[in-house]
Amino acid sequence: MAEPAKKPANIVINESLCKGCSICVDFCPTNVLAMNGSVVAVKNLEACTKCQLCDLRCPDFAIQVF
Ligand code: SF4
Ligand code: SF4
Repeated sequence: MAEPAKKPANIVINESLCKGCSICVDFCPTNVLAMNGSVVAVKNLEACTKCQLCDLRCPDFAIQVF
C-alpha cells in the first residue's frame, strides 16, 4: 500500500520542562501552538508544516516535532 502523501506531524510537549515563555507560539509561522495556562498546547495540528522552528527555538528543549 502506498504511503499517504502527507503524514501529520507528531508534536511532543514535555510539560515538566516547559516554563511557559511562549517563544514557540510566537515563532510558529502557521499558529499551530497556543498557551494553555502556563504550558504550551497544540491547538491546530493540521496546520503544522514540521518546520521545527518551535523545536529549535525552545530554550528548554520542551517541544519536539517528528
Ligand atoms: S514545527 Fe513549525 S509549524 Fe509545526 S508547530 Fe513547530 S513551528 Fe509550528
Ligand atoms: S518555547 Fe519551550 S518553554 Fe517556551 S512555551 Fe514553548 S515549549 Fe514552553
